Amino acid sequence: MISSFDPDSLHPPRGHFIGGTYVADRAALALHRPADGAEFGALPVADAAMVDRAVTAGRAALAASGWASGVPRDRTRAMLKWADLIEAEAGTLARLEAVCSTRPVAQLPGGDVAVTAEQIRFFAEMADKEGGDLAPTRDASLGMIVDEPYGVVGAITPWNFPMSMAGWKLAPALAAGNAVVLKPSEMTPFSALYMAELSVRAGIPAGLVNVVLGDGPVTGNAITGHPGIGKVSFTGSTGAGQAIMGNIARTGVKPMTLELGGKSPQLVFDDADLDLAADCIARSITFNAGQACVAGSRVLVARGVADALAAKLIARMAGHRPGATWDAGAQYAPIISERQITRIDGIVQAAIAQGAEVLTGAARMDHPGWFYQPTLLTGVAADSPAVTEEIFGPVLTLEPFDDEEQAVAMADHPTYGLCAGIFTRDLSRALRVMRRIEAGTVWINRYGRSRDHILPTGGYKSSGIGKDLGRAAYHANRRQKTVLIDL
Ligand code: NAD
Repeated sequence: MISSFDPDSLHPPRGHFIGGTYVADRAALALHRPADGAEFGALPVADAAMVDRAVTAGRAALAASGWASGVPRDRTRAMLKWADLIEAEAGTLARLEAVCSTRPVAQLPGGDVAVTAEQIRFFAEMADKEGGDLAPTRDASLGMIVDEPYGVVGAITPWNFPMSMAGWKLAPALAAGNAVVLKPSEMTPFSALYMAELSVRAGIPAGLVNVVLGDGPVTGNAITGHPGIGKVSFTGSTGAGQAIMGNIARTGVKPMTLELGGKSPQLVFDDADLDLAADCIARSITFNAGQACVAGSRVLVARGVADALAAKLIARMAGHRPGATWDAGAQYAPIISERQITRIDGIVQAAIAQGAEVLTGAARMDHPGWFYQPTLLTGVAADSPAVTEEIFGPVLTLEPFDDEEQAVAMADHPTYGLCAGIFTRDLSRALRVMRRIEAGTVWINRYGRSRDHILPTGGYKSSGIGKDLGRAAYHANRRQKTVLIDL
């Protein structure tokens, strides 16, 4: 059990973490606490020279430590110890995460911290099990496919689940034998810094995990454009993903994995278990106040059960109480920033002005900081931003369909294809519809990721390129060299 804490009692380091030590730099960007709106000091913005220093530290650590060239099981052992330390330090990590993010402190030790530690263990175990192949060439030669790390991997993460997003990037890159230069979101830097510090305490050579603080245009650009970075791993918005692709194209050629935005549909057929569907749908849009890439924000429901489902959703979306993220009794998350809550409310009010009906919510909550009511809208115009844009807030739209054909057509989004949910008791229909939906993940009679880290995650269309988690994420951090020997 974790207890409430006073956010003003925390004094986290605010420097970059490079080569195993904190590096002070001029504070330039104000930080805020979403749960009360207060300013919480300021952060530096790493410029190109600072990013270069981190890349150089990564290269030097790789050369000095034999991380990639030594016994692979040594990587496993150090990473398992790191995962244990992360769990042992769950209280500290939870406080560092809760203070400036949207994550309520009570959800962190058993949630984000435990998940991050398990992700690290999952990838640690791959270090001595995956990679390389012998090719079926003629007997007079020997063809080998040699699997190698990139060297230094650049990673950039968003603010919505700061710790586990850092885990998604760091764990496969390190297990695969790389060093990493990670830039966490400028709004939520503290858990990544502490994870980096713990990596050194666990015996991962200093300089393999470097964290540079800063924004996208300066620090992010310096990472994606750095010639010493062999691969870029990004999670964030589709717009930033496009900017990164542009910068990589301008500055050279390097592989990238991009985990981007979504506007995911949840299809509820007339034979569905409506209580199960309502539980899953309401949870997916209220958890972290809908600030999840996978949020199932478009409910498509068979007309005959639409009213019944709406009533169940209203019951489940009501009653969420705002509370500071450092209050151990709080469960409902604030919105990350004033700018974001203003955008959410703007989209909701525009939809209402266009004729949408409010079934519940549609306003800010009466609490300091930035809290928004879980909101259910119906009758929303098809071209309304409430239906077309990723809102990244606790806002659901509900629209009826008349048959399977129409449901599939409505589920299709012109640009996004991250996830989809299907609720039906008819297995044939579930699988038929699953095949027709263009999305990187489809959940049937459930919604949301499990803790099965073997399952890769990633989007179709403009929701991304490549996968995080699963074997795919490990292999995305390795490159293949073909070797042919005439015997
Ligand atoms: P964001 O794109 O604004 O920022 C993400 C990160 O990218 C931050 O660290 C930011 O500083 C950096 N960045 C911004 N512009 C950049 C640039 N031009 N070059 C390099 N770095 C840049 O996203 P956010 O608001 O932090 O997070 C929310 C978004 O992330 C949503 O769109 C959400 O769907 C997406 N997301 C996707 C997944 C997934 O698995 N697909 C998971 C979590 C979040």
